[in-house]
Amino acid sequence: MEIYIDGTFVPEGEAKVSVFDHGFLYGDGVFEGIRSYNGRIFRLKEHIDRLYDSAKMIDMTVPVSKEEFAEIIIETVRRNGVKNGYIRPIVTRGAGTMGLDPRHCPKPTIVCIAMEWGAMYGDLYEKGLTAVTVAIRRNAPDTLPPNVKSLNYLNNILAKIEANYKGGDEAIFFDTQGRISEGSGDNIFLVKNGIIYAPHTLTNLKGITRDVLIEIAAKLGLQLKVVELGFFDLYTADEMIVTGTAAEIAPIVKVDGRAIGSGRPGPITKQIMAAFKTLIDSEGTQ
Ligand code: PLP
Repeated sequence: MEIYIDGTFVPEGEAKVSVFDHGFLYGDGVFEGIRSYNGRIFRLKEHIDRLYDSAKMIDMTVPVSKEEFAEIIIETVRRNGVKNGYIRPIVTRGAGTMGLDPRHCPKPTIVCIAMEWGAMYGDLYEKGLTAVTVAIRRNAPDTLPPNVKSLNYLNNILAKIEANYKGGDEAIFFDTQGRISEGSGDNIFLVKNGIIYAPHTLTNLKGITRDVLIEIAAKLGLQLKVVELGFFDLYTADEMIVTGTAAEIAPIVKVDGRAIGSGRPGPITKQIMAAFKTLIDSEGTQ
């Protein structure tokens, strides 16, 4: 595998950044996760836009233009011959002196990794995932806004650890107000009486796959509302869906040991998953 680092491609064994990089020292940086399907990069522009917004939020200037970044990603995919894969662009604050002050980091570091990657949840797309609610809370919007896809993923990792201990495939975060936020690495939708409900994006990452689901729902003529959701809505939902670049679109059939609806992937979930499959088979940047 060849990794892009700051203008050059290097074999993966030689792909190293400084221990004084503030991405390493402080988690000071941002990233994206992108998929390619059949050699086409899915929603490249949307991911680049979000990467630059994340960078802007932490007052970091990405040292290349968006067009140049797109080229870096396309070239990383091409060099590695990736067809159905996962791409990870990262921009850190760069190497600097010890101490938090970003003014002592003269130049951000850019890394891009691209690799072949299969379906994250294997046969669970058919059977459905189990989820558990977790005690750890998602960042409140008045702390580190969840819309920054930053290198600070520790509370998501804590959520994942909690889900592992509790035996769930995915964790469900609440925010500090008790509203459903998202999964550890994906967004969540509920379906009740034929209507799809999405938590608003103040307390979760504005997922690109979330937007794709919203688009698909509109195309299929399904009603979708963005609202505040709580425990009651979770436990009484007919269907539950997770969306994410890694997870794609998958059904959740059990939460905290309780069956969601029939305990099987529901009809709206299946309809959306089928439409998503058609979409990823036809769209993308080559
Ligand atoms: N929420 C979190 C915390 C994530 O890390 C991700 C993954 O990127 C998502 C949601 C889903 O976002 P997207 O669909 O853009 O991958």
